[in-house]
Amino acid sequence: MGHNTFYHEILTDHNLHPGHKHELEHANLALEGVNPSCGDDIWLKLLVEDGKIVSGAFTGDGCAISQASADMMLDLVIGKTREEALRLSDIFLRMIQGKASAEEVEELEEAGVLQDISHMPARVKCAVLGWHTLEEMLKRD
Ligand code: ZN
Repeated sequence: MGHNTFYHEILTDHNLHPGHKHELEHANLALEGVNPSCGDDIWLKLLVEDGKIVSGAFTGDGCAISQASADMMLDLVIGKTREEALRLSDIFLRMIQGKASAEEVEELEEAGVLQDISHMPARVKCAVLGWHTLEEMLKRD
């Protein structure tokens, strides 16, 4: 019950006050992520220098879960190396499948509140959209 309230508060906060939802003029990586089953459509943009994510942002539209998840992801990966960001996105994607350990989920900080999405199959694609997009762009480059 308490956990559920916490989850809704964080989701609401990231939707009302997304810290990273804006244009990023000096981005050197950009990729669109689309989840047709819900209508989520985001553009993820990063500035990566010397293997480190210096800044990042996203634009687009979508449901509360897709937008909050992308915002929390950027909170977590900005300042990290490419390898560290890929490791964290791997943990997130495994968490959504119910396959991450409690210690791993803790590393995700706020994004760990999305753990329960694994019990809501219809929302899984919303929660993973930003993370899949991140993974694809970092692996491709
Ligand atoms: Zn959605």
